[in-house]
Amino acid sequence: MIIVLKKGIDKEKYHELLNFIEKRDVEYVEIEGVSKRIIGIIGNKHNLDKDAITAFPGVERVIPILEPYKLASRKFHPTNSIIKVGEAEIGGLEPVRMAGPCSVESEEQIWEIAENLSKQGVQILRGGIFKPRSSPYSFQGVGEIGLPWLRDAGKHYGMPVISEVMQINQIELMYDYVDIFQVGARNMQNFRLLEALGKTDKPIMLKRGIAATFNEFLMSAEYILSNGNDKVILCERGIRTFVEYTRNTLDVNVIPMVKNVSHLPIIVDPSHATGRTDIITQVTLGSLIAGADGFIIEVHPRPYAALSDGAQQLTFEQYAQFMEDYNLIRESLIKLREKKFAEINEHVSNSL
Ligand code: PEP
Ligand code: MN
Repeated sequence: MIIVLKKGIDKEKYHELLNFIEKRDVEYVEIEGVSKRIIGIIGNKHNLDKDAITAFPGVERVIPILEPYKLASRKFHPTNSIIKVGEAEIGGLEPVRMAGPCSVESEEQIWEIAENLSKQGVQILRGGIFKPRSSPYSFQGVGEIGLPWLRDAGKHYGMPVISEVMQINQIELMYDYVDIFQVGARNMQNFRLLEALGKTDKPIMLKRGIAATFNEFLMSAEYILSNGNDKVILCERGIRTFVEYTRNTLDVNVIPMVKNVSHLPIIVDPSHATGRTDIITQVTLGSLIAGADGFIIEVHPRPYAALSDGAQQLTFEQYAQFMEDYNLIRESLIKLREKKFAEINEHVSNSL
């Protein structure tokens, strides 16, 4: 339930209303907009009567929310959320460019990659330190020792870093070393981990599970949001289907679907979605046209010698070729995004 308050509601009436809500033992969050103030009821709303709230002085209207997600909903936050990380504005007009190796393998490797990718305009450096592998016999990541390698390489070349956190006790360990916590596909429904990340103040990139429905994806975001962290970035990384020519199937539909109902940014991971290098450019550009707020691409100087995901990592040269094609559509893409943003703003001002 969303309570939209009248413009200029006086303080006394506002506190009376909050008192009324608190007495009914429900949780709520307050949002101060440019011209309006909104209260979002997120807890057990059964104790709250819509008509009683509507009759309250100072309340303009009450909007019931039928979707199970509330804080992730555009009804709750009508304009797009923009998450600032370093110079990048994720969800802003310019799609964010993230890239780096699947795994951080050595100090030299991550420095070599950071140097090259910073020159190629990458804004955020990725690198797995703790790796969730399908086989216990596969490389599990360099572990803790790699955290300063990644942080220092990113810092030196002016790129904030993102890395996957697999379990709750890694949050503290990683906190001073990463700028964005990544939740991997396998952990999308690790609810205790999501709750713990919701209590941190760092952006969280939440990858979609391999068989997660649309609602499940947004409800996982809701776990982070409802614990107090509003910096959630969604990531479509492909889902499991019957096709055998790619590792997963990129669900491009989910991008505009998310944009329709949610204010959260969503980026695309074409590397894990395809598992191969030859179609990454087309799949990424297609996703950007569909509304994706950026991309995260795996790059390795020598993919044939990579300790994980060698088949899907681009070489530096291949990444440069991708950027050449991306730059051909960059300006049109920004114009398209400007138009979409204006449509959203117009819709918001018409509905207030
Ligand atoms: C990754 O990005 O390193 C990764 C393991 O991806 P996913 O969780 O999407 O499989
Ligand atoms: Mn990988």
